[in-house]
Amino acid sequence: MNPDDGYIALIINPKSGSSSNKAMVGEFREYLKDRGFSVRTHLTQSLTHAGELAARAATESECMLIAAAGGDGTIREVAHRLEGRSTPLLVIPTGTENLLGNELGFDLKTKTLVRTFEGGVVRALDLGRANGRCFTSICGFGFDGTVVRIVNEKRKGHINHLDYFWPLWQTFWGHRFPRFEIEIDGEETLDGHGMLFVGNISRYAIGLQLLHYADYSDGLLDLCFYKCRGHVHLLKHAALTVLKRHADRPDVIYRKCRTIRVRSSDAWVNTEIDGDPGPALPIDIEVVPQAVRVLVPPGAKPAGIRTRLLRMLS
Ligand SMILES: [Mg+2]
Repeated sequence: MNPDDGYIALIINPKSGSSSNKAMVGEFREYLKDRGFSVRTHLTQSLTHAGELAARAATESECMLIAAAGGDGTIREVAHRLEGRSTPLLVIPTGTENLLGNELGFDLKTKTLVRTFEGGVVRALDLGRANGRCFTSICGFGFDGTVVRIVNEKRKGHINHLDYFWPLWQTFWGHRFPRFEIEIDGEETLDGHGMLFVGNISRYAIGLQLLHYADYSDGLLDLCFYKCRGHVHLLKHAALTVLKRHADRPDVIYRKCRTIRVRSSDAWVNTEIDGDPGPALPIDIEVVPQAVRVLVPPGAKPAGIRTRLLRMLS
């Protein structure tokens, strides 16, 4: 890219991120300006506003790139409004978890942003829709839906990783595994007690590789259904997931698909979409193949559990 191609829309969620994350955004902006790029900076007032800013910039032919700095919620709203547009998106992850940013290969370093910008490697990003609501990363049904609901009920502003500890503990001891009925591509039906994940990305919170085989640009969603009825079985699933050996186990069903319908006879099932509380069941999910063009760091891979834990501690 060069300065004659047009301007760069920089959309920043000012509420997202620690001071070091905010410094990264400032440094990247300085880098662009030093090289003669025209940068139009917008601060978002809400997630909806973030989406509106992106949609508006994407209609302008002189906008060559949309760079969005924020957490997973901000990035999702921006990506959603860029569906079908040719203007590429640069994700600047400044949130707590940054599921999508991590999957695309970003860390929290300015030099990675610069390398990505200069490399110019663009990949297609699929999106998902759950009862009409857009998601970029992952939907969870049952156990983690309950964890997310408790975290959100207690939420006062910015969330950090420690905010998940007690909700996880409480859910671990109190959770009853609901019975699901899952229809895949209108062809196959699964049922049983357990927990279900459907998504676009391979790494979940703290780098856990739940959807082991997921590829965000293959036009398909990955589904992982853990059959489970109690604590001991849940711990076994957790251990095998950490070891990345869960996906081929007989008590785990793993599929790639385009549409999924999830129902349950248990009325109390909690769901989550990209880390926010999701709608009540039944839920219909579909993939939106190659919806957005995203810039990715050349040769980058998602960070695993070890890297994520070190990053969290530093
Ligand atoms: Mg995929």
